[in-house]
Amino acid sequence: MRILLAEDDPVIADGLGRALKRGGYAVDHVASGADADAALTSQTFDLLILDLGLPKLPGIDVLKRLRARRSSLPVLVLTAQDGVDDRVRGLDAGADDYLTKPFALPELEARVRALTRRGTGQASCIEIAKLSYDQTDRVLKIGGQLVELSAREVGLLEVFLLRIGRLVSKDQLVDHLCGWGDEVSCNAIEVYVHRLRKKLEDSGVRIVTVRGLGYCLEKPDSPA
Ligand code: CA
Repeated sequence: MRILLAEDDPVIADGLGRALKRGGYAVDHVASGADADAALTSQTFDLLILDLGLPKLPGIDVLKRLRARRSSLPVLVLTAQDGVDDRVRGLDAGADDYLTKPFALPELEARVRALTRRGTGQASCIEIAKLSYDQTDRVLKIGGQLVELSAREVGLLEVFLLRIGRLVSKDQLVDHLCGWGDEVSCNAIEVYVHRLRKKLEDSGVRIVTVRGLGYCLEKPDSPA
């Protein structure tokens, strides 16, 4: 899951960015509305966290432009404490949810999980063969047994589960898992895939390598 964070307050941006990265999200940060607009027109994200009080282009205009391009990207708006009007304007302009500053990080993380799930249109729990994955708590179980995953592995598993039976290119994995400046860890994608594949060994689903193209998460009834 790749998140664009548009926030001009460096302290808030830093705290949010760290928390989300710890949670296995790839986070790209911009500090102005103009940069947010540019990023949104040229790149693919799974969620936008948008401060309304942004320099160069107000957050509300970033949102209006996004919706004018018919994008259905989930948007979580951040507003000032007394910004009741902002909240209403944000929702009217097409925001999916809002949070009022200051907010607790667990609250933000809960909203992010709900919104990224809504974007996929999937149920909270995905069950295939012996695998069950709770998208709300981000917990993987195989045959009822909890499987420990690193934040990267969680991110990777979510990308695969949203594309079961379909080819996922390495570029797509990089797009969803790596923020700007994350190149080092992106080179390690093959390693993450290898580790996740081992952890899924007894689940009945498997990650197959499609030579030269990428990977595919195969359901048990797929032809070998
Ligand atoms: Ca601001």
